[in-house]
Amino acid sequence: MEGNITLTIIKPGAVRNQYIGPILNMINESGFKIIAIKMIKMSLEQAGKFYAVHRSKPFYESLTEFMSSGPIVVAILEKENAVEEFRKLIGATNPAEAEEGTIRHRYAESIERNAVHGSDSEENAVIECDFFFSKSERLSYL
Ligand code: ATP
Ligand code: MG
Repeated sequence: MEGNITLTIIKPGAVRNQYIGPILNMINESGFKIIAIKMIKMSLEQAGKFYAVHRSKPFYESLTEFMSSGPIVVAILEKENAVEEFRKLIGATNPAEAEEGTIRHRYAESIERNAVHGSDSEENAVIECDFFFSKSERLSYL
């Protein structure tokens, strides 16, 4: 399955704005299969751990505060070449640069509050899926 999965997060802003449904619809219509999903709220500590690679960045504190500010929806998506295909669907990190038809172009509020997360490599996808989901929470075990 490695190579065919990616992790997405519908971030607090998009959840607050009632965009869970529309975003999941775009994901389905683009041919991704949802093989795990749940709504949770991260603690500041958890958000800090998830974004640890950005620890030295000026936006780290604000980002982790935002990501722990309310409920998020985390999901594992399956499709051939999932990581790359999903990055295409979400668009550029900065919504001002995201192409029309991408999730961020439609639903992001700002570069920080950019609606969704998508894993950036196959290796990180596996690490991130394991960060949020046990094996028994995935379709293959249900
Ligand atoms: P993500 O990892 O959430 O899918 P990404 O891979 O497109 O996004 P990263 O460079 O990994 O972008 O940045 C992680 C997150 O940090 C971004 O999604 C955004 O929420 C936030 N971020 C990135 N750059 C900035 C910035 N210059 N100012 C504020 N927030 C930023
Ligand atoms: Mg990233």
